[in-house]
Amino acid sequence: IEIYNMEKHYIKNKLYNTSVLRVVDGISLSISKGETFSLIGESGCGKSTLGRIIGKLLTPTTGKILFEGRDITKLVRKKDKKLQKDIQYVDKEASFKWIKRYTVFKMLEKVLETHEMRSNTNGHCLTSHLLNSMGLAHIAYHPIQGLTPGERQLVNIACAFILQPKLLILNDPLSGLDLSVQSQVLNTLSHLKKKRAITYLFISDNLNASYCISDQVAVMYKGRIVEKGTVSQIYEEPIHPYTQALMSTIPSIYKRERIVLKGAPPSLSSPSNGCPFYKRCPFAQEACKSRQPLLREIRSGQFVSCHLYT
Ligand code: SF4
Repeated sequence: IEIYNMEKHYIKNKLYNTSVLRVVDGISLSISKGETFSLIGESGCGKSTLGRIIGKLLTPTTGKILFEGRDITKLVRKKDKKLQKDIQYVDKEASFKWIKRYTVFKMLEKVLETHEMRSNTNGHCLTSHLLNSMGLAHIAYHPIQGLTPGERQLVNIACAFILQPKLLILNDPLSGLDLSVQSQVLNTLSHLKKKRAITYLFISDNLNASYCISDQVAVMYKGRIVEKGTVSQIYEEPIHPYTQALMSTIPSIYKRERIVLKGAPPSLSSPSNGCPFYKRCPFAQEACKSRQPLLREIRSGQFVSCHLYT
């Protein structure tokens, strides 16, 4: 999937004091087939909004999305069955409102039926096979309402996976789960990926999880990508001052002193002509205030947006 100059703005009108919230502010990136690509950054940096735009659940203000070379920018998800199947979106909390009384098996069958896949792919076999490979066979005939949060999230992923999507967007899928359940979900995702070439877009502020599962990582700050590279480049040799501070919170990976940032995360409504990290950056210079740094390749495959490296 390729996205170009993606922007999502909201108009905030607080007692006529109108301001523009630049939630996604000019992002371009591409994710290769079969890759696990993570978007990380503090909450409110725009990563979930970007994920929803890529999943065609939200219309961008401007920008272009290509999926397998096809321009899907203007396609409406509800009207395009192929798109609904090819790109699946799993949200942070599994919500099975009207089907809590269904068993896990029946719910997966229902998903297949809704997408008219049951008759032509032998849905029954598909469902049993998936439940087995996800280690969920023992709860196949349990009603949804009796499942633990971890089991519900795995069933949520199964509902997306059974449609055999090409791209699976996982928005903070480990949120609210115990550590042991988090590793079970991550192991299941890795196991499923080995069986089928699927692309994951993993959105999370869980840095350890992103480290375990990713091939490529992009770090977002105030609606923009400040650094992008392979998982080892970002976690072991971060270049951008914000990425360095973020990674210093995981001492086991980034073996340097903890970097404590001053100030609060920026408001999305305060426009910045310069670097979005200017107010908190320990290395800020005068030029950073007025000139926006471009994302440039500093090392092979590692892109950074910072005037220190131009
Ligand atoms: Fe810091 Fe300037 Fe680099 Fe921004 S451009 S990260 S303010 S040094």
